Amino acid sequence: TDIQPQKVYDVVVVGGGPAGLMASLCLTTYGFDILHIDERPCPTTAGRADGIQPRTIEVLRNIGGISTAPIPGGSVVGQSPIAGGGIAKKMISQGVRVYEVAFWDPTPTQKLARTSRAPSCPDFVDVVDNYTLLLHQGLIENAFLDEIETRRTLLPDASPTPRSGLFRPYTLQDCRTLPVNTSDPLSRTHPVECVIEHGSSKAKHVIRSRYLLGCDGAKSHVRRCISGGEIGDGEWKGKITMQGEATDIVWGVLDARVKTNFPDIKYKCLIHSKSEGSIMIIPREANLVRFYVQLQMTEGGKVVSIERDKATQDIVIARAKKIFQPFDLEFGYVDWFSVYQIGQRIASQYTLDHRIFLGGDATHTHSPQAGQGMNISMLDMYSLTWKLNLVMKGLGKPEVLLPSYEHERRGVAEELLKFDGAYSRLFSGRGPDAKHLPGGVDAEKFIQMFKQNAFFTSGCGAIYFANQLNALPGTRLLSGPYKYAFNPRGVKLVAGQRLPTGRVTRVADGNHVRLLQEVKMNGAFRIHIFAGDLEATKPALEGFAAFINSPASFFERHRVNADVRSSIVDGPAAVMNHDDRAKTTHTFNPFFTFLTIVGTHWYNWEIADLPSPLRLYRSQVYGDALCDPHVSEARTNAPLHHKFGIDMQKGAIVVVRPDSYVGAVVELSEDGWLGLNDYFAGFLIEPPKKAKL
Ligand code: FAD
Repeated sequence: TDIQPQKVYDVVVVGGGPAGLMASLCLTTYGFDILHIDERPCPTTAGRADGIQPRTIEVLRNIGGISTAPIPGGSVVGQSPIAGGGIAKKMISQGVRVYEVAFWDPTPTQKLARTSRAPSCPDFVDVVDNYTLLLHQGLIENAFLDEIETRRTLLPDASPTPRSGLFRPYTLQDCRTLPVNTSDPLSRTHPVECVIEHGSSKAKHVIRSRYLLGCDGAKSHVRRCISGGEIGDGEWKGKITMQGEATDIVWGVLDARVKTNFPDIKYKCLIHSKSEGSIMIIPREANLVRFYVQLQMTEGGKVVSIERDKATQDIVIARAKKIFQPFDLEFGYVDWFSVYQIGQRIASQYTLDHRIFLGGDATHTHSPQAGQGMNISMLDMYSLTWKLNLVMKGLGKPEVLLPSYEHERRGVAEELLKFDGAYSRLFSGRGPDAKHLPGGVDAEKFIQMFKQNAFFTSGCGAIYFANQLNALPGTRLLSGPYKYAFNPRGVKLVAGQRLPTGRVTRVADGNHVRLLQEVKMNGAFRIHIFAGDLEATKPALEGFAAFINSPASFFERHRVNADVRSSIVDGPAAVMNHDDRAKTTHTFNPFFTFLTIVGTHWYNWEIADLPSPLRLYRSQVYGDALCDPHVSEARTNAPLHHKFGIDMQKGAIVVVRPDSYVGAVVELSEDGWLGLNDYFAGFLIEPPKKAKL
């Protein structure tokens, strides 16, 4: 395909790796006109990243999937019961799961023995998919491409085309932001200009957009363009630099089929040999095994390294065989081979003018052993796109939301680099023979570190600091320091951390559902009203419902006007749910989804007992009445209220951001909901009050 004559877009996404594809999928779902390009003619054919961590699977499940046959009158994006896990299910069905890791080391009596085992993702992490999913990057990219294509076909005929799709081979040659210029009306709305070139015809296009996302990998050309620097010694020297350092530790990596008598070849294993170096193996799809082989060993009490440019596939295979001794290891088909040098680097800046953003490997690089790169790259874009969604639809304050991208994601990347530096040093530490040498380490220390960091490496330990979006103690609301009932005593949910898992019953049909997955990614804030014991909380619920219906509530204040194109209000879902929405016009606001979670067993009350608008269960877009517990014994206590530390007599309101991070926790009381007004006023705009949707 070639790009359409249209030359003005909402967003240009450069790069079709994991970060760019996540950006493209989210922006397509939100309904924007995007131009997505990659200079490669096809997806990754083999190798590279392969580990999807539990938090990423959770996010992919939340993105959902669209059934190709939408249910008439039903909602579509991720909500169709047929669609199920969508993109996540596809990847899970193709990959291999790692639940357990084995550690192998020399012992006083054996050259190599299994010395320990550990769960890949221990129970305390509290995640549904408690494993690492392994499959090669190309399969991951293809799953994204299929889902994007499906969502694109659901867009209305009247929408400008192309709304998305990945165009290749197109290379970004230049990009910049233009100053506001009265003779150029686009300079206010579409101040980003870029030049792209077709790979074979060399045809050039000059494109204007509102934003540009540089997801073009570790050697990012977007980064160079916005650095405004000059080439020197192969490094760009400009405004944005990659800060950090590389070590002299070289590793070889290959995907191969092997024959061996090593008993744990189907496990993820971390193996330290006595003096030949270390190796990590990971089982992969299609009977492949991924080998990360250290190209450094001790000989005669000295450390010997193989230089990067001398490390051939044969040398790496020979090293692997030595490390595996006394086990036999025969290599057959080799699918992919590469060599890398460990280092940790981070971009000094993630954005130019908050119009051009960098993400993924363009902003951070580190060793691949902890299996984090692709995960953090996808999640960078998952985080940025919901903020762009609010800003582009005229509801979010750009000056608050856009800087929060770097504030939150840089914090996570810095944490990762710190962990990766320590982890890869320990993993590269030479075996017992070399404990006395610089860098020589104890295998036990390494095992301990692996176990201690499971929360972080699962992706669930990525924590954001206090800012306008995360109402932690220390956040200054617009009205000044906290006046209202934030973070009620005893509640264990913490702003800036992901909402933990929990199962509830959907009262409308008695189905058992996962709270986190009940509302699929729709760009809305999920307002969880934990109603505890209905008898005790009914007056408060009625008060909250009256507040929601009042013009003073955040729900009424933060509404987009009809002049925002209806097709972009909440993407394809809004279009397909047009009839539903028309019925609920007076209460519909696509940026808030309400979930009422009642602690009293559902045999003892009717949905009609809940005050309107908290019972609008018929519109999936709007919200749901749920019941904690999820089992049918009428006397069971409410386990989720208990788990989250919510008082059954008082209840609580928990705001979950569109990326399923807790944003604010307040009392279910007037002080609490007035506090929410303050919370949302911190980053949402109050559009002029005319022509409501
Ligand atoms: P990328 O996946 O690098 O995607 C960037 C995309 O941008 C590419 O498709 C590229 O073609 C495109 N692009 C670049 N410049 C332009 C331009 N000017 N115009 C248009 N398009 C452009 N991770 C692991 O976890 N384990 C591994 O073993 C591992 N091995 C790796 C081996 C190699 C050789 C490389 C390069 C990376 C490896 N990684 C590994 C890292 C992992 O692949 C990345 O962390 C992950 O792909 C980051 O995703 P991304 O989307 O940010 O960047």
